[in-house]
Amino acid sequence: MLHPVKPERTTSNKLLKSINQQKVLRLIYTEGPISRVELADKTGLTQQTITNIVNRLLEEDYLLETEPVGGSSGRKPIPLLVKTGGMYAIGIELAVKYVRGALIDFQHSIIHEVTEQVNEYTNVDTPLEYVTQVVDQLLKHVPKPEQLKGIGCSIQGLVDSKQGVVIYSPGLRWRNYPLKERLESRYNLPIYLENDANLLSLVENLNGRLADSANNVTIKLDYGVGGALVLNNQLCTGATHVAGEFGHYKAFAAEDSPVCHCGARGCLTSFASVSGLRRHAGRTPEQFDEQLEANDPTAVALLAKIELAIGTAISNVITFFNPDHVLITGKMIDVLGHRLLPLLEKRIYSTIPESCRGVKLIHLPQTPNESTSAGGLVVNHFFDVPLESLSL
Ligand SMILES: [Zn+2]
Repeated sequence: MLHPVKPERTTSNKLLKSINQQKVLRLIYTEGPISRVELADKTGLTQQTITNIVNRLLEEDYLLETEPVGGSSGRKPIPLLVKTGGMYAIGIELAVKYVRGALIDFQHSIIHEVTEQVNEYTNVDTPLEYVTQVVDQLLKHVPKPEQLKGIGCSIQGLVDSKQGVVIYSPGLRWRNYPLKERLESRYNLPIYLENDANLLSLVENLNGRLADSANNVTIKLDYGVGGALVLNNQLCTGATHVAGEFGHYKAFAAEDSPVCHCGARGCLTSFASVSGLRRHAGRTPEQFDEQLEANDPTAVALLAKIELAIGTAISNVITFFNPDHVLITGKMIDVLGHRLLPLLEKRIYSTIPESCRGVKLIHLPQTPNESTSAGGLVVNHFFDVPLESLSL
């Protein structure tokens, strides 16, 4: 005899149980040390439910009971902490010229790092070969394999992070590549993917230089050009996950601009990226900087052309979205920022409408190492309440 109603109920109870457990774990992680009483207050769950969840988490070795504090009489509440030092994540930065990996613990301390330089990805399988090479090396350094909670990847390319698919990355030779599925079947771990500019923006918005900002734009002038847009504290991904594709912003006059790999002319990436500079102007950012130092007239003219294009593009974005901050970063800025940034600042503030002039232009001293940020994706997901499960 089948039970038509009960199994469903069990499933939803089980789901609710795991959501509540996740809620409690996240709260202990973000607000710990925290007592059982405070947990009950903040979650609205009963004392008994909290006791059950905490006992389960203690048994599974996720929590630490610390010394009781305060209270002059009676039983003192025991503050709880998550054992972040005992959980691990792997972060991978999959770039066109290198694959960098970091093994971190949940306190974001780096345990081991590996970098593989890439000359060229010769076919569609090579990026994955590099990634698995780096992951396999890192796995040897995981203190407790059962406590490795996942692999996060930062990708130079268009990413559908929900589906775990790299939609398009010319440098990686990928189009609709199911990276999450490939890595999951090899490592049997949760896998998370994010576009590199989006990840940088998420990290800076969560606890970096954009933490106090609700509306901002991040522009990464790197091997290619990436962009990320945060409006009302939400990262905008767009209808087909390609919002912020700043590299194909039409910024140069079409008549003196080469055809971009997207098929159009005038794209910002044609000259304002490391790859564009090399392909269309035959120089690296470092060589460009030296030529500028020597006052080479063609280099001076090229800098003026690039600065006009970037400055106009950013001014338009500011005029359209009215952000409070614009963060500019990437290898082009690491090398050429000392020349570009003062010019950009002058151009942007003099061309945007007065109503937008409160915007702050900021930059990072160095483009951050994204492998540790990618590991952070695992940490964030681990403590996240699985909201999507609520709509099941
Ligand atoms: Zn283009």
